[in-house]
Amino acid sequence: MAEKEEDVELPAPTTAASGQIKAISKDTVHKICSGQVVLSLAVAVKELVENSIDAGATLVEIKMKDQGLQGVEVSDNGSGVVEANLEAMTAKYHTSKIREFVDLLGVETFGFRGEALSSLCALSDMAIQTRHQSTDVGLKVELDHDGKIKKRSPCARAVGTTVTLTNLFSTLPVRRRDFTRNIKKEFAKMCQILQAYCLVTKGVRIICSNQTPKGAKTVVLQTHGAQDVLANISAIFGARQVADIVPLKSPFEKGQLSEVGLRAELESSADAADTTCTQFSAEDVERLNLADFRLEGYISSCRHGAGRSSRDRQFFFVNARPCDPKNIAKVINETYHRYNVQQQPFIYLNIITARSDVDVNLTPDKRQLLLNNERILLLALKKSLLETFGQTPSTFQMQNTTIVSMLEPRPKPQPEDAGKASEEKDEEEDVPISSSQRFMDVLTQWRRTGDTQGTAPSAPIKRRCAESEELATRSMKMQKIQDFLSQDSPKHQSSKGDSVSEEDVVDQPPKPTKEQANLDESFLNLKELETESKAYDLLTQPAKAARIDCKVLTPIKSRLSIAEPKPEPAGSSQETVSTMDQSDDDDHIELPTRIEFDGGDDGGDDQPPANYKSGELRTTIEEIADSLRKQEQQQKERRTRAKLQRLRFKSEINPNQNNKAEDELQREIAKDDFARMDIIGQFNLGFIIVKLQDDLFIVDQHASDEKYNFETLQRSTQLEYQRLTVPQSLDLTAVNEMVLIDHLPVFEKNGFKFEINHEAPATKKVRLLGKPYSRQWEFGKEDIDELIFMLQDAPEGTICRPSRVRSMFASRACRKSVMIGTALNRTTTMRRLITQMGEIEQPWNCPHGRPTMRHLINITMLMDEEEDADAAEDPAHQKPQ
Ligand code: ADP
Ligand code: MG
Repeated sequence: MAEKEEDVELPAPTTAASGQIKAISKDTVHKICSGQVVLSLAVAVKELVENSIDAGATLVEIKMKDQGLQGVEVSDNGSGVVEANLEAMTAKYHTSKIREFVDLLGVETFGFRGEALSSLCALSDMAIQTRHQSTDVGLKVELDHDGKIKKRSPCARAVGTTVTLTNLFSTLPVRRRDFTRNIKKEFAKMCQILQAYCLVTKGVRIICSNQTPKGAKTVVLQTHGAQDVLANISAIFGARQVADIVPLKSPFEKGQLSEVGLRAELESSADAADTTCTQFSAEDVERLNLADFRLEGYISSCRHGAGRSSRDRQFFFVNARPCDPKNIAKVINETYHRYNVQQQPFIYLNIITARSDVDVNLTPDKRQLLLNNERILLLALKKSLLETFGQTPSTFQMQNTTIVSMLEPRPKPQPEDAGKASEEKDEEEDVPISSSQRFMDVLTQWRRTGDTQGTAPSAPIKRRCAESEELATRSMKMQKIQDFLSQDSPKHQSSKGDSVSEEDVVDQPPKPTKEQANLDESFLNLKELETESKAYDLLTQPAKAARIDCKVLTPIKSRLSIAEPKPEPAGSSQETVSTMDQSDDDDHIELPTRIEFDGGDDGGDDQPPANYKSGELRTTIEEIADSLRKQEQQQKERRTRAKLQRLRFKSEINPNQNNKAEDELQREIAKDDFARMDIIGQFNLGFIIVKLQDDLFIVDQHASDEKYNFETLQRSTQLEYQRLTVPQSLDLTAVNEMVLIDHLPVFEKNGFKFEINHEAPATKKVRLLGKPYSRQWEFGKEDIDELIFMLQDAPEGTICRPSRVRSMFASRACRKSVMIGTALNRTTTMRRLITQMGEIEQPWNCPHGRPTMRHLINITMLMDEEEDADAAEDPAHQKPQ
């Protein structure tokens, strides 16, 4: 950050022991001060307002000039400062509020560090006017950047204090430039924080106004000094807001809590999104029953429509100190959503607890608090929300289709999907199916659900699956050879059992459907493994002699390959194996290698058939076993080496790993990679399989097209508005009204047309003239509120769309996109869809959150050419010299 370059020059601590504002003891300074510098308008104003409230004021006026660019003035009718204390007021670490660390545990005031005024002096030009009740004349002082008084003069004023800041941040040029550029955001943030103080402060009138450079003055927000929170809420947000909220009930509404009761209640009301309060002990409940805190709160009723479109009105306090307690906010929002899924609650929550249970000193702005008993507190909050909403009929809907789909019986194969599978796959029985079945499960689930949340399939597929299974198969073969060698009477094993790995025997999944068989064929190459396995079986079958002498007949022109053996019908004395009848799917083999064992009475025909070269191979089982072992070892080593280089994609295709998978894709795939991808083809009429170097990816044709169309709409659509018959007033707060006026083009792009009357008083300047029209979607004030909220935080230049407009675009995009079940042309449509992905801002999931693309497998992890070559070197298959 730029600020780092310029160190803020803070005044050195003084030793002045003037009057009541005293230096904190050196030791204590270390414990509480974190070198705070007031770096935002919001914090500057907050500090001044806190001081006024601490001084016992009943009226605090905040006057902003040009939103703070020209200056800030905070005046109060509090105690005022006696002349003797003035000197120390702006001295670093001088406070009237504490002197020793023990005092800190009991501070009742907002301020206690004695840092704010001195920091503000360092950052701006400060002037203070004050009059203590003990004197008749006020005093005006101007301060230099060290907090020293540079000018002092008497002035006339009522009892109280006025602090004026001009040229905020002028001592930090970079910060000042930033401040000027982002002044609207700074101002909005300041208002948001001020709102919190307005809500929580009882019996103090707070008025904030802004004066434009032209001199027009508007009241931005104000309260009326009421003694109760509801009146403050009404003053800030209007009576309408009050009508929509309910008081938060005490967790002890029905008396003391029992562990069993609480557990039952929390469990029965828990849902998948619930991540908090899942674990608690008897001791926790005990502590909860002895709770030494009280909750004062209001929350939107869960009736639909009572909530808000964004989290723009959520205020948290600990002992009336505004703060941002993340976990507490999370529990409340999550629980609220179980009763009103669509909306965000208004929240006012003041946790009143023993001062010693809170550490307010966590961050310089004192907004992150450390609560000693947070866990218990969360439990109490949850319970109190259940009390508050428990009686209301729940509007919770099953949203998580993933879970629903997991509960359904395994989907039946869909006949129309089998189109591409070739017929002979019907007979496939021995293919190891567990991995493919699981893989299918995941794919099916992925296609069917849009959720990013959800439960894992019972046996999630691992990327490593294909590989580890292959290794398992291989070590099993080794085992078999070993068994054979160590046993006197080797037992016969059926070749059927061999190809099924152990775990599958325990939980044998159903026979693969055509599409799965097809899948196995294309990606996992399992059949080849099985074939190989059978060949080994044959070799390990009980032989008449330990010595295997055989004739190897190699087809001329054909490359060497492991033959697919099929034992001749029993009774045939000729031990000839051939794959002649294995007709179609091995398109790389025209004529198989034949091995003819000696001793067969084949009529003494020594002539090889036409097209075959003949050679003799003499070997022993030991030799074969030995060379297999060596080969095994070599391959293992090579694989481990290769794995380290190639495995860039490690996450599983599993809804629980969506984030991880997306991070990986984000990291490994550049936008221009899409154009370089080879398109392998379409799978199941719904997915495109692409290849980038050695990695295969699967792309959801619909989801990816949808995302592209969605982003295009989102970027370029200018929504038309429909004129209202009567212009509508909007009941905006003055702050929100300012934000709206500052961002009119954004609203117009979203189809909202306003009439602005700059002369009208604040909150009455804007009227709605027209809103977006759609047959299916109803737009209104909530969308405007939501957009205002988004605009306060959005970086300059981002395209802001209210969520309803987003949903409308999502559904339009969906209708425009290539559907699942459509056969696509490889060179035109598939290519276009993949190229499009390179133009998408965020290509990894569709507007509904469904994944668009996932890594399938690294093909070098499978049997490849290299291994065929190795197989050729294997003595068992070697051409005789
Ligand atoms: P802190 O609030 O942490 O004590 P500050 O730097 O904010 O430190 O203020 C220093 C001291 O100046 C306060 O302790 C208080 O005695 C005095 N002071 C500041 N603002 C006012 C005010 N508006 N009215 C009366 N006294 C004030
Ligand atoms: Mg203070």
